[in-house]
Amino acid sequence: MGLPDMTAPPIETVVVDGLGLAQEIRADLTARIAAHVEAGRRAPKLVVVLVGDDPASASYIKGKQRACARIGMDSTEHHLPASTSEKELLDLVDQLNRDDGVDGILVQLPLPKQIAANAVAEAIDPAKDVDGLSPMNQGRLLLGEPGHRACTPLGVMEILARHEIPLAGADAVVIGRSAIVGKPVSLLLQQQNATVTMCHSRTRDLDAVCRRADVIVAAVGVPKLVKGDWVKPGAAVIDVGVSEVDGKLVGDVDTEGVQGVASIVTPHRRGVGPMTITMLLVNTLDAYETRLAG
Ligand code: NAP
Repeated sequence: MGLPDMTAPPIETVVVDGLGLAQEIRADLTARIAAHVEAGRRAPKLVVVLVGDDPASASYIKGKQRACARIGMDSTEHHLPASTSEKELLDLVDQLNRDDGVDGILVQLPLPKQIAANAVAEAIDPAKDVDGLSPMNQGRLLLGEPGHRACTPLGVMEILARHEIPLAGADAVVIGRSAIVGKPVSLLLQQQNATVTMCHSRTRDLDAVCRRADVIVAAVGVPKLVKGDWVKPGAAVIDVGVSEVDGKLVGDVDTEGVQGVASIVTPHRRGVGPMTITMLLVNTLDAYETRLAG
């Protein structure tokens, strides 16, 4: 690395208000739903399925249902015991697929060992797969065809768009290659004409790779992996990671360390999280409106 340019003006890092952005989008969703209901149509409906008693999953589900209620969207929860067999869950999914009053289906992960998450994702009608994780919707993303996109990657893209971060020709580094975040976010960035480098646990010289980036998306789960001196001045830094350290939630980015270096950074609380739930609402309303039109 060369010497820092002492004549460069200081960078004022914008800490993204993910909750504020989410509220703006939710206000628009509320108005769209109210217009449908005023026109005499039923409200859109999301069904969430929880298998077992994982407290974190139960709390995520409650958060999603509260978010639905606040915008006038119906939601129902199916809470099944941890001993549920794969066949029983697939039967429920089949029933929900065929229910005309259901627009979106979300099966909360993780599932108990006896149930293959892939089999469940594959069974959900792609039109109702508002989590965007079914093989059909992931394949459509790969091919650049219309379909539901995974919620966290969509939330990341919405944050970049709303902060007017230029992506065409930009160097984007995505750390993490999961099917839920890393891979889909890299495809969405490519679709916006970014030049994307995918990094993972075997990447060499991760810090040097990051220093070349105009946009960094960290979706790893390693606390404060991305340090201030990994970031090129003016780069946009999106922190998806959530880890628990000494009872506190910590992101993948050293948020304080990137202050004065990054153009924007998402905080680990009220950053990507609220946008993820909001994109679930967006996908469910889109599913409803597509079914109405069809
Ligand atoms: P995951 O399936 O565990 O994937 C983690 C990825 O990080 C893997 O690709 C892994 O590489 C890579 N990795 C691990 N250690 C690394 C290191 N030291 N350097 C570089 N790469 C490394 O996780 P995920 O489901 O994508 O989630 C990632 C994080 O985002 C987690 O903290 C999760 O809690 C959080 N998350 C947040 C939201 C939200 O709404 N805020 C939503 C989803 C996930 P390999 O492939 O080589 O193993």
